[in-house]
Order: sequence, then structure tokens, then C-alpha cells
Amino acid sequence: MPTYDESNIFARILRGEIPNQTVLETEHTLAFRDIRPQAPVHVLVIPKGAYVSYDDFAANASDAEILDFNRAVARLTRELGVDLDSGQGFRAITNAGAHGVQEVPHFHLHILGGRNIGRMIQ
Ligand code: IMP
Repeated sequence: MPTYDESNIFARILRGEIPNQTVLETEHTLAFRDIRPQAPVHVLVIPKGAYVSYDDFAANASDAEILDFNRAVARLTRELGVDLDSGQGFRAITNAGAHGVQEVPHFHLHILGGRNIGRMIQ
């Protein structure tokens, strides 16, 4: 299991030490606006548990945490108006580790939408 740095910025947000623009909070999950938005909709979804990256979360979180996280994502895309029924759509990405150029070592999913995001993988 990777070592979790308790001083990372999202751990501090979860402890209420710094403000955030929350858009959804559930038992195990928090979603808030990215401070440097790359699209009209740019929300970060994080588990409340201490997981460094997606693979750490997928391997070590409880079933309840994983279910709660994924249901929160589905609820968010609807509430943000970027779900498929809206006709818009979105991109969900997560960066992990050095080659993934992960800046904050607490697992987070970026949800980007509100404009055509363009292709990343050709
Ligand atoms: P990463 O490269 O996937 O780790 O991206 C981290 C993201 O966190 C970046 O898009 C930052 O703009 C965002 N970020 C960093 N600090 C804060 C904050 O205090 N509030 C909200 N978003 C933040």
C-alpha cells in the first residue's frame, strides 16, 4: 500500500482547514470545483478515505466506498447538466504518479465538460 501524505491539499480540505467550493457531499465522497478550471465544468471528486491514487483506491477501499464514489459521479454528471441525457457529455480523467503527472497525492477524478473537450488519445 502506498504511503499517504496527510499534509496534501485535499487532506487539508477534508479536515476543513482550507475552504472549497463543494458541489456534492455524501457519506464517503466529496466533490468540489477545481481552483484552476480547464473547462466551464471542472469538478474534482475525491473519496474521504486516505487513498493516494486510483489503483490504491480500487485495490484497498471498501465496497461501500467504491459504490458511494461511483454513484456520486453519476449524480454529479446529472446535476451539473453534462450527463448523456443532457446531450452534452463530459470527460472523466485521473492522473496517477510521476508519469501520470499527478500533482495532489490524494486520489481524485476530474470531471470536465461544458464545452467540447477535444481528443487526448489519437
Ligand atoms: P492532478 O494533476 O490530477 O493531481 O490535479 C490536481 C488538481 O487539483 C489541479 O487541477 C489543481 O488545479 C487542483 N487544485 C489544487 N489545489 C486545489 C484547491 O485548493 N482547491 C481545488 N482544486 C485544487
